[in-house]
Amino acid sequence: MSFLELIFAPVYYMEHGFSRPKGHGFTLVSILLRPQSRGSLKLRSRDPFEPPLIQPNYLDSPDDLQVLIEGIRLAHRVAAVNAFVPFRGEEQYPGAQSEEEAIRHGAETLYHPVGTCKMGNDQEAVVDSQLRVYGMQGLRVVDASIMPTIISGHTNAPTIMIAEKAADLIRGLPPLPAEAVAGEASQVEHCYRYERFVYHLTPTTCS
Ligand SMILES: Cc1cc2nc3c(=O)[nH]c(=O)nc-3n(C[C@H](O)[C@H](O)[C@H](O)COP(=O)(O)OP(=O)(O)OC[C@H]3O[C@@H](n4cnc5c(N)ncnc54)[C@H](O)[C@@H]3O)c2cc1C
Repeated sequence: MSFLELIFAPVYYMEHGFSRPKGHGFTLVSILLRPQSRGSLKLRSRDPFEPPLIQPNYLDSPDDLQVLIEGIRLAHRVAAVNAFVPFRGEEQYPGAQSEEEAIRHGAETLYHPVGTCKMGNDQEAVVDSQLRVYGMQGLRVVDASIMPTIISGHTNAPTIMIAEKAADLIRGLPPLPAEAVAGEASQVEHCYRYERFVYHLTPTTCS
């Protein structure tokens, strides 16, 4: 099942930050969580210094497109509420494009790739539950690549958590007692594809 995250930013989110219309603006960002599409990362050759072949396979699943279309509609509804009237100027993006067009040509990555070196005990797993690489001695992988499935939230904090845990594993420390971590954030979430709605702030707001 896919999920949607909607975030608000009092800045322009356009072309990875490289495009910036004049004046001030705000952006509603609709993010596809738990995408159904799966990409791949493969070796290009036996030369370890050659860059790998990365195929993200964005929007391979029609469900992913549909969730983002719903996201556009939801963001437009949010931007249309009265509370935004004093702030909302002209819509900059996606403008007159169809929803599908805007997504296919303009959706961007949120830079949260994971899972290319997954932890587990099946055929696809690269590391075990101690993060040790199967078939190798003295080698662990400790980063976002070991996540067995795509999470729903943003990946930075969970990656730090993986590193903290790995440090304990390497030092042979026992797991913390359950009560010591009770109440800590337990749900980590992931997202990697988003579409956005950019508005100029009205001149009165800018002054
Ligand atoms: C532009 C951008 C914005 C992001 N924003 C957010 C955000 O707002 N919130 C959030 O939660 N997540 C965010 N992320 C995602 C988050 O940064 C990553 O999920 C996280 O950093 C993954 O950690 P990692 O340790 O797996 O990989 P990395 O942080 O990429 O670390 C890999 C390290 O390995 C080093 N390295 C690479 N090759 C070699 C080599 N051959 N030898 C030695 N060292 C090497 C690199 O220099 C790097 O230090 C963002 C990512 C990007 C790119």
